[in-house]
Amino acid sequence: MKTESWQQCIIPSCGKKYSVKERRTACDCGELLDVKYRGDYPKSLQETFSERRNHGPNIFDESGVWRYRELINFVGVETENYDFYSKKLVSLDGAEGRTKPVHLTRVAEYVGIKTGNFWLQFEGDNPTGSFKDNGMATAFTHAKMVGAKKVVCASTGNTSSSAAAFAANELDMEAVIFVGAGKIAKGKLAQTLAYGAKVLQVKGDFDVAMAMVKALSEKSGIYVVNSLNPFRLEGQKSMMYRVLDYLSWEVPDWIVLPGGNLGNTSAFGKAFMELYDYGWIKKKPRIAVVVAEGAPTLYDLYNERNLRWNNGDIDNEIIEEYYSEIDRKGVKASTKATAIEILKPVNLKKALRTLEYTGGAVTKVPDEDILDAMAMVSSNGFGCEPASAATVAGIKKLVEQGEIGTDEVVVGILTGHMLKDFKAIVDYHFNPKNRFANTPLTVEPDINEVLDLIEK
Ligand SMILES: *Cc1c(COP(=O)(O)O)cnc(C)c1O
Ligand SMILES: [Zn+2]
Repeated sequence: MKTESWQQCIIPSCGKKYSVKERRTACDCGELLDVKYRGDYPKSLQETFSERRNHGPNIFDESGVWRYRELINFVGVETENYDFYSKKLVSLDGAEGRTKPVHLTRVAEYVGIKTGNFWLQFEGDNPTGSFKDNGMATAFTHAKMVGAKKVVCASTGNTSSSAAAFAANELDMEAVIFVGAGKIAKGKLAQTLAYGAKVLQVKGDFDVAMAMVKALSEKSGIYVVNSLNPFRLEGQKSMMYRVLDYLSWEVPDWIVLPGGNLGNTSAFGKAFMELYDYGWIKKKPRIAVVVAEGAPTLYDLYNERNLRWNNGDIDNEIIEEYYSEIDRKGVKASTKATAIEILKPVNLKKALRTLEYTGGAVTKVPDEDILDAMAMVSSNGFGCEPASAATVAGIKKLVEQGEIGTDEVVVGILTGHMLKDFKAIVDYHFNPKNRFANTPLTVEPDINEVLDLIEK
């Protein structure tokens, strides 16, 4: 099956189109771009996708991204012609995107939703330990398509880990990484260095590093793999395809996720808009975005200043005012959930579109609730990093506020692996004041004392 595709400005009053062969991070007018498609999308593809889960030796059927290649076919491959597409599509040997929603009884109880209605999808189970691998598969495919040899990103650690791994796995590809000095969890820094990327520590936070990347891309044409790259978001749509695929295409009432740069928020909304257009789904799930209190931009703009997508006619003054206030007061993002420690999310406008389209919601949670939620996820034998646990803390809050009904079906996306930020976990459990702390006991090597302790 073949499709036609192009890039297009997200703002309808501009709507300028560009070839998919162009590498750009914005429209000439400065706004974000979408990847658009024209093709046939028969519902029978749902069966094809399901059958590909029995992938045999085909790594592109094994990949939880490329299994859905008909829905993200910006390369224009013949999707049933292995010899053709295997030369064009980039994959970590089929390992990316192999996740699905799972039930967690204790967490369901904790957030106040019936176990059978509550699902979490652990994107930390990706090969580099975060959902970013879904997006790098498509971003690197596009980089390869346009002949790029060097990619760049700013990162709080997971984008860099993923970009570094994909670059290492491709011949002829090099990754340059900007991180805020001291702003990145050790597990993530370790990966990025180990995969051999060139790491530049910028004196500043993520927002500063991101500004550097934008400036560099304008000057040098280096290929940007941050989420303002619309091709990366195409891969991230696959998280929603897997949710639906494993739920037999029954649309849940809510999808809940953490918001950082709002790439996932944007990608998920786009996935549902397209499936709705194709007639595959009859209702859209409401998308709830959870931000940290220490990085509240979307919450402030959406809930307090009433900023809306408004069919693409956005009141830019509200955004400019907010950002200039931040700059004037010298406000910096500050949360233990470092992956969402971002004050100027690059995909803000696409996220507004998602919220409008799905009747979504935005909430914010303090670090204390995030860390309790993280501990709670582990009480079920699973785990995630702090930013991911914002999802669980956010669901709990939305249920308490009556926004999410206790009978509704909720799927939470947990974005990163628990060992990414093991320090946050150790710190939590070593402090007995924390609600779910499992503080280790120190004992003399005395068998009677030990017997006493373990029988308590
Ligand atoms: C990147 C990242 C986020 C933020 O995702 P956005 O798409 O930028 O909103 C959240 N959690 C983890 C673990 C991440 O790595
Ligand atoms: Zn434009």
